[in-house]
Amino acid sequence: MSDPIVVTGLRRAFTQGSRTIEVLRGIDLTVRAGEIVALLGPSGSGKSTLLQAVGLLEGGFEGSIRIAGQEAATLDDDGRTRIRREALGFVYQFHHLLPDFTAEENVLLPQIIRGAGSDAAMARARSLLGALGLGERLEHRPAQLSGGEQQQVAVARALANRPALVLADEPTGNLDETTADRVLAEFLRLVRGEGAAALVATHNERLAGRMDRVVRLQEGLLA
Ligand code: ADP
Ligand code: MG
Repeated sequence: MSDPIVVTGLRRAFTQGSRTIEVLRGIDLTVRAGEIVALLGPSGSGKSTLLQAVGLLEGGFEGSIRIAGQEAATLDDDGRTRIRREALGFVYQFHHLLPDFTAEENVLLPQIIRGAGSDAAMARARSLLGALGLGERLEHRPAQLSGGEQQQVAVARALANRPALVLADEPTGNLDETTADRVLAEFLRLVRGEGAAALVATHNERLAGRMDRVVRLQEGLLA
């Protein structure tokens, strides 16, 4: 099985008028199957920029990104969409759930888009939401859920298609400390149970310490 992430010599700069800011200055990072890696760095250090590149959401970089064995530079739009759909799950700081759909429907949709049958998709959605303690919240819409519950639904959605790799960008950054601890613990338990790998951006040392490995983003490089 290929490593979920192999990044070598990744560089990304942003030009604004006459100024160029080098945000990523030569990143090397491998994440192995089933490994949960914390990407630690202060605000503005480039964590989101790195996750967006690895998630094949943004071009404009130099270097090599291999996701699930596929070199990003060799993929066209369809190829990138296929990898995102089949190999990747995303969790953001703000849940980005569809407001007019229930919790269950939000977890169903990515499976239906990928071509799953509706019975299997529904069973998977219920199983994931049940494992997160949301078995009584299947019919709730996002606005009817607490912030912690919204993030749990987003976690269930990210895992719906059994991705090899979950990319999470400050997944508990919008929650109070107690809720953040609980949601992160459940996220880690579920990701481990699924055998998925994860790259989790955070500026919180304490939360980072609960993952398998910590890499630090400093001045555009990983220490
Ligand atoms: P973090 O997620 O660690 O807070 P980001 O990756 O969001 O950091 O941003 C890193 C740096 O890159 C910041 O200085 C930010 O202003 C700059 N940056 C990010 N995206 C863009 C963009 N689209 N255009 C210009 N500058 C950007
Ligand atoms: Mg960020």
